[in-house]
Amino acid sequence: MAEQSWKTGLIEIADGVYAYIQEKGTWFVSNAGLIVGKEYAIVIDSLANSKMTTRFIEEIRKITDKPIRFLINTHHHTDHTWTNYMFEGAISICHVRCREMTVNEMKLDPKMYQMLFPGLDITGAKVTPQDVVFEKEFRIYQDNREIRVIHPGVAHTVGDAFVYLPDEKVVFCGDLLFAEPCTPFVLMGSISGSIQALDMLASLDADIYVPGHGPISERNALYKARDYLVFVRDEARKRFKQGMNAFDAAKDIDLGEYRSWSEWERIVGNVERAYSEFRGEPPGAPLPNLIEIVRRMMELRKSAESK
Ligand SMILES: [Zn+2]
Repeated sequence: MAEQSWKTGLIEIADGVYAYIQEKGTWFVSNAGLIVGKEYAIVIDSLANSKMTTRFIEEIRKITDKPIRFLINTHHHTDHTWTNYMFEGAISICHVRCREMTVNEMKLDPKMYQMLFPGLDITGAKVTPQDVVFEKEFRIYQDNREIRVIHPGVAHTVGDAFVYLPDEKVVFCGDLLFAEPCTPFVLMGSISGSIQALDMLASLDADIYVPGHGPISERNALYKARDYLVFVRDEARKRFKQGMNAFDAAKDIDLGEYRSWSEWERIVGNVERAYSEFRGEPPGAPLPNLIEIVRRMMELRKSAESK
């Protein structure tokens, strides 16, 4: 696989609006955001461990000494929530289903993730449920800036939100967008819902899209991610109709150019979710063998690497 590189760190994308981009954007290496106003700042998502978030906060403090009043979580996945507590004094906000999932997450030991993802650094990883929830949309008016936080329906997870700044034409997409070469991942959400969410993002009057993983992007990245999901859905459907099981289908699909994307192994989780929808299960329906699916997905990667 070709070494990919893109601009990382805290990058100003509009006046007072910053994307925090981490290198490679692979498993548990996510992006975040910062919006600075006259009196306070807003952070979008925390990161997977305290080392990452300490670095993020250090970068923030080079730019502003304003208090961080709000922390918006784009969804419950732990690479976006595990260090919420480090934004002391901030009111944390997310979709109502995101908070439910975050509360569920409290029952899990972060060490379980290390078993599934060897080498994962969980220093300082701790789940703290959010303070405030919303259902469809809410807005923050920071000085003259309008900030819309919108739930697109079940997509990457059951409780996603994206943050849209209409005047600045900026969108913080969370994991609704994995920007090439990061592979989209819909195991815990919906493949059709994710396609719809990408359409919704593309329909916004916006120029800059900050993905949950990968480089700062333009609209084209939405189409690329959408093409991938349509490809997976269509290939999975053929095999579903033939009676092939989901794991065999995932291994059978020739990924073509998508094989060179990082985390190509997500095909396993994505096909499982597609199958759930072909069976007529509701979007985001819990899969009883979720952990087993993740284990098999990572096994597949490992076995391909050892070849
Ligand atoms: Zn993520």
